[in-house]
Amino acid sequence: MAIALSILYRGPLASCNYDCHYCPFAKRRDSPQQLALDRQQLERFVYWVQQRDAVTNVLFTPWGEALIRSWYRDAMTTLSRLPHVERVAIQTNLSCSLDWLAACDLDTLGLWCTYHPDEVDRQRFVGRCEQLSERGVRYSVGVVGLKEHFDEIEMPRKELPSNVYLWINASKRDADYYTAGDVDRLASIDPLFELNNRRHQSLGHACHAGESVISVDGDGRAKRCHFIEAPIGNIYDPEFESALHAQPCTAKTCGCHIGYVHLQPLDLYSVFGSGVLDRIPDRPVTRDDAKRRLRTFGQKADHTIQVSTTGL
Ligand code: SF4
Ligand code: SF4
Repeated sequence: MAIALSILYRGPLASCNYDCHYCPFAKRRDSPQQLALDRQQLERFVYWVQQRDAVTNVLFTPWGEALIRSWYRDAMTTLSRLPHVERVAIQTNLSCSLDWLAACDLDTLGLWCTYHPDEVDRQRFVGRCEQLSERGVRYSVGVVGLKEHFDEIEMPRKELPSNVYLWINASKRDADYYTAGDVDRLASIDPLFELNNRRHQSLGHACHAGESVISVDGDGRAKRCHFIEAPIGNIYDPEFESALHAQPCTAKTCGCHIGYVHLQPLDLYSVFGSGVLDRIPDRPVTRDDAKRRLRTFGQKADHTIQVSTTGL
C-alpha cells in the first residue's frame, strides 16, 4: 500500500501574462519547446497520480501563471475527479476562463487566487470571485502586502463574501518594513498576517515535509519542500517511498505559507484542516490564533532572507 501524500508540483513553465514589478516571471514567455516539455511532464505526473493506490493531494505552485494553459486546466479537472484525490489546488492570478470548472469535482478542487492591484481592475477581479462563489468553487484570495497597495487590500475584504478567507503575504525584503500600526491594519484584514510576517526559526523542528508532504519538479525529482534543495529521490522510481520518513527541518528558517503550514510546532493543520493546500481555514480564524502560536513557538522575527513574489 502506498503512502498518503500531499505534493507541491512545479513544472518548468515560467511565463506569465501579468507584469508585476516585483516578480522575475513578469511578462516572461516560454518557447514552444519549453511549453511542450512542461505539458509532457505534467501529463506524466497526472498519469502517475492516477496509478497511485493511496490518498494523493496536489497543489500546483507554478513559477508563472499556469491556468492560461489548457493542460493545467485538464490536469485540475482530471485530478479532481479521482476518488483517491481529496484536494487538488493551484496558485493563480485568476485571469483564465472559468468555464472549464463545470467539468470538475468541486468538492475536491480549490483555487488559491492572488489579486494583483497593478494588473487587474479590482471590480473585475472581485466579479470573477463572485462567479466562483456562484459556481460553488472553493477559493481563497490574497495579496502581497505592499504599502502602496494598502487601500486596495482593504477594499476586496469589504466586497468579497465574508466567508472567503483573504490572506496577506508580508513583504519581507526590508527589515521593519511595517510599523506596529501597519501590522494592526493588516491583521484586521487577515487575522493570520503576523504568522506570515516573519521567518519561523524552523531548524531542528518537526515538519510534515519529507514524510507526508513533498515537492516535485517536472522531471519527477522530489525534495522535501521547495526550500531545501537536497533531492530525496524521484517519484518515478518504484522504490521512491522508502525515502520518506519523519525528519527535523534542516533549514534555519521557513517564511512562506506553503512551507511553515507543515511545520508541526505551529499546529496549523488544526486551523486549515482540509484547506491546508488551498489556504482555506476550516473554521473562522482570529488574530489570537496567530498570537498564541507565536507565543507557544517562542518566535523572534528574522527578516534576513525572504523575497516573496507570487503568492507563497
Ligand atoms: S506575481 Fe504572479 S501574476 Fe504577477 S507576474 Fe509574477 S507570476 Fe505573474
Ligand atoms: S519547516 Fe519549511 S523549510 Fe523546514 S522542512 Fe518544513 S517546509 Fe521545509
